[in-house]
Amino acid sequence: MKNKKKLADKLDKLVDQMFKACQTLKPIPREYLLFRETLTPDDYWVILIFFKTGELNKAIKNGTCYKIHEYFYNNLNPIEDLNKIIFFEEGEIPEDPEELNEIFTIATEKLIAIADGTESPNCNICNHNFHKHQFVGVVNKELGYPTKGFLTCPEENCNCFKTWNPQLS
Ligand SMILES: [Zn+2]
Ligand SMILES: [Zn+2]
Repeated sequence: MKNKKKLADKLDKLVDQMFKACQTLKPIPREYLLFRETLTPDDYWVILIFFKTGELNKAIKNGTCYKIHEYFYNNLNPIEDLNKIIFFEEGEIPEDPEELNEIFTIATEKLIAIADGTESPNCNICNHNFHKHQFVGVVNKELGYPTKGFLTCPEENCNCFKTWNPQLS
């Protein structure tokens, strides 16, 4: 238990450092929140990265979110004993505890939806037609073809984001 507390402190510090390093990206991620959900059997540390209202869609489509996602996952490897997931949000972190709770609930529901492997023609995040989602590949220089990347939803104003790296989300 003590060890978990130590890891959580380490996670907290790492996320803070990484968030600062991401301030050179455009659009700029503005704030972040870190919380531990306890509804799933594996309990996850959820990292929420906030963009200014109206900037999230751009951040998803231009690859900024993907860069953050990659960077975080690569750098969070040392604390592999903690399950972690990153989601992107927009707007400001509410001060009202009820509104804050609502954000935690939505993120947890998203996490549960992603973990649910049931086959469906619709996306398990945004519920739009999954086959219309666009894949953006990152080419592996040695192999000459994409081995990882992310996908986005073409529906207007949909902020769906998933990576197809071999990890959750
Ligand atoms: Zn969508
Ligand atoms: Zn989707």
